[in-house]
Amino acid sequence: MFSGKVVLITGASSGIGAETALDFAKLEANLVLTARNKENLEKISAECEHVSPNKLKPLVVVADVTKESDIKNIIDKTINQFNKLDVLVNNAGILAAGSIENTFLDQYDSVMNTNVRGPYLLTMLATPYLVKTKGSIVNVSSVAGLRSFPNVLAYCISKAALDQYTRCVALELAPKGIRVNAVNPGVILTGIHLKGSMSQQEYEIYLEKCKSTHALGRPGETKEVSSVITFLASDSASNITGVTIPVDGGRHAMCPR
Ligand code: NDP
Repeated sequence: MFSGKVVLITGASSGIGAETALDFAKLEANLVLTARNKENLEKISAECEHVSPNKLKPLVVVADVTKESDIKNIIDKTINQFNKLDVLVNNAGILAAGSIENTFLDQYDSVMNTNVRGPYLLTMLATPYLVKTKGSIVNVSSVAGLRSFPNVLAYCISKAALDQYTRCVALELAPKGIRVNAVNPGVILTGIHLKGSMSQQEYEIYLEKCKSTHALGRPGETKEVSSVITFLASDSASNITGVTIPVDGGRHAMCPR
């Protein structure tokens, strides 16, 4: 399905990004995998090579999406190696707990720089190449962009911004044949909640609560998100742009009662 296509995935070292890399690899894509953790990236890269039908070896670029020079390096290395870009998946993101009463500007800055400013600049630099291929962009947002939750303030703001960014850029690039969409996951079983926003015990209680906070009564799996990302990036979604698709077991549709 993606034979001959070049697919760039940020945050490919773990969780949803790593699963998405494996899916694209199975579908014969040439991959560019980026994140900060070199060791994890190389492990995922080797797995991608293994499942790729033609044993295509991904290009690994170690980069921090909060650093402008690193973002520029991602695009430079991609074009040096493959001479084009067909799909950009803006997946890298961080979660942080904090309310208006106890948050700090450094948390706001790190969340917004990673979740919004990073995709903003990477998309800017990728666009000239996506114009040439009439490519496609998929942003990994959250149900927290569509609905409001207390105590994750900066994160909710960042994902709402990413959703609006998705729609605006979709309209700007539609005349050039580029599609721009987002997935909005509910709770997905990755390590993200344990990286600063919850203790192990809090996480276990949170997952138990998913029985009632998600209409389908359970958290989601990374595969259930990656399959929607590959769909949106594919020609099967050729008439879809500017959407923010909940992949959240119905959480976005629920109201307390
Ligand atoms: P993970 O923590 O497993 O993945 C996050 C990825 O982002 C990692 O690969 C990490 O790599 C990368 N990353 C974080 N900060 C930076 C940075 N400054 N520069 C470059 N890469 C960075 O979590 P998920 O897979 O769950 O998260 C992926 C996306 O899904 C995020 O945008 C998240 O907001 C979103 N999401 C997740 C949900 C969930 O319940 N899991 C729910 C809704 C949305 P490294 O540390 O190597 O840099």
